[in-house]
Amino acid sequence: MERVIICPICKDSDSCFEEMQENFSSFMCFNCGYMSDTRYRVGSVELVDNMNASPQLVQDLQHHDTNRGIVWFPCVINMGELGIIFPDEDPDKKTKGAFKSTQKTNYVWKYAKVVEIPEEERAKYNNYDKRLDVENAKVYSKYEFFNACQDMGIIKDLKAKDGLSTDT
Ligand SMILES: [Zn+2]
Repeated sequence: MERVIICPICKDSDSCFEEMQENFSSFMCFNCGYMSDTRYRVGSVELVDNMNASPQLVQDLQHHDTNRGIVWFPCVINMGELGIIFPDEDPDKKTKGAFKSTQKTNYVWKYAKVVEIPEEERAKYNNYDKRLDVENAKVYSKYEFFNACQDMGIIKDLKAKDGLSTDT
């Protein structure tokens, strides 16, 4: 069962969903791109394992949801051939390479597509024939996560978002 909740991070009241399973609930906000799960309790093994496997920026951006006693963090959506959506540092807010803790709430979303590597360049890429085009990733502001999902083609509108797997 699914219901709309108020996002504890961006306070959006239309795009944040709680998906209730038998033993746990998972949460996903399509406005700011944060997600969580009732198993990600503060100090839990699940949370620690997930954080250890996450990029530094995701770790830095984690948000403690004191109401639910869980931690939310920006999701990374890796859809193989469709590419990847991931959070990145906001280039406009960066100052001289220093990424101070007070600035860590500034982030952007990026959508990198998978591109073919031309035959003659494959040697440079360990002979792979496709690669993620991270350099030309499309950039979205932090509350445009949903637009990135639409561009990726995984969601048409919020009412028909079934089938999305955040694969955590
Ligand atoms: Zn949100």
